Amino acid sequence: MKTWRIATIPGDGIGKEVVPAGQRVLEALAQRSDAFAFEFENFDWGGDYYRQRGVMMPADGLDALRNKDAILFGSAGDPHIADHITLWGLRLKICQGFDQYANVRPTRILPGIDAPLKRCAPADLDWVIVRENSEGEYSGVGGRAHQGHPIEVATDVSMMTRAGVERILRFAFRLAQSRPRKHLTVITKSNAQRHAMVMWDEIAVQISKEFPDVSWDKELVDAATARMVNRPASLDTIVATNLHADILSDLAAALAGSLGIAPTANLDPERRYPSMFEPIHGSAFDIMGKGLANPIGTFWSAVMLLEHLGENAAARVLMAAIEHVTANPALHTRDLGGSATTAQVTDAVCSYVAQHAALVQQAA
Ligand code: NAD
Ligand code: MN
Repeated sequence: MKTWRIATIPGDGIGKEVVPAGQRVLEALAQRSDAFAFEFENFDWGGDYYRQRGVMMPADGLDALRNKDAILFGSAGDPHIADHITLWGLRLKICQGFDQYANVRPTRILPGIDAPLKRCAPADLDWVIVRENSEGEYSGVGGRAHQGHPIEVATDVSMMTRAGVERILRFAFRLAQSRPRKHLTVITKSNAQRHAMVMWDEIAVQISKEFPDVSWDKELVDAATARMVNRPASLDTIVATNLHADILSDLAAALAGSLGIAPTANLDPERRYPSMFEPIHGSAFDIMGKGLANPIGTFWSAVMLLEHLGENAAARVLMAAIEHVTANPALHTRDLGGSATTAQVTDAVCSYVAQHAALVQQAA
């Protein structure tokens, strides 16, 4: 029997509610399997930790995670601490420290979800967005000078390396190749950003030659927002820079019905370090501590975690459990227009897992 070592980092706000819920459903799956078990270790890093010690996580925090098989993360963001401190002090520290350069964000309209696009069928929206997760606009390069004086200056430099662009585009072409449509849309802005984005375009042409069976097209990021709304079925796999994909994936999540559903994986495709799985939403200050958070984004992230570990039977059962729950309006949380609680949704997923225990045993 394989024992997977999982680090849980709830972080702040509703992260403290959805990550324990995610751990519960993973435990429910492991309980039904003779093939694998989990060994969870929880880390109390985040805003409260910062208030006590002045840092979001300890200096040697990455070493505590290094030997884990995966990380389940909640959210970094506290109403009383500046967002750039919480984000850079925890989530980005892990993403960048472990070179999790591919951020993968699947989007589908799940059964029973009332999505805002009225002119398309739910099946028309089936996307995976690949976000460059290690450099670009969020490379952290820049600075401020003359602070507080009239001549104050500030820069954020978007830094793109050939190696960084090649590896993310190669990852995206490979992912597109593994999906039925075998189609990739490369998002760019090379009309206005005439250095790094032009290199990005050139590298796309170069990498595409390695994947003759994948069709691809190029779209400017602003036009891409309109295309997502007007012609969702024309898109399948999408790759974009750190900032562009950050924005497009929130749009994708909203078009699929709610930010509370959308999952993401921060992958080190070379598996040198643990990868990290998290819902795409943040701390949700307006509902935190009330038991109202939708845990589905975390559960779907747990599906991606299981797939990453190769526990495909368990991943399939959990995804079926999620779809079973979303199909039932009585189990919709407030963000979906319902009144179910985090605990009720979690209970329903766990009991579906219990009822389908035999399927968890199936070979991958
Ligand atoms: P948010 O995702 O926290 O909330 C946006 C809206 O969506 C809120 O109305 C919220 O109630 C709702 N919502 C989000 N997730 C939900 C869920 N699971 N169930 C029900 N409703 C849900 O975004 P924000 O308000 O822009 O950010 C709040 C804080 O979270 C900030 O500090 C921000 O920096 C941080 N944040 C962190 C991450 C991360 O750690 N990955 C991501 C986004 C935002
Ligand atoms: Mn974001």
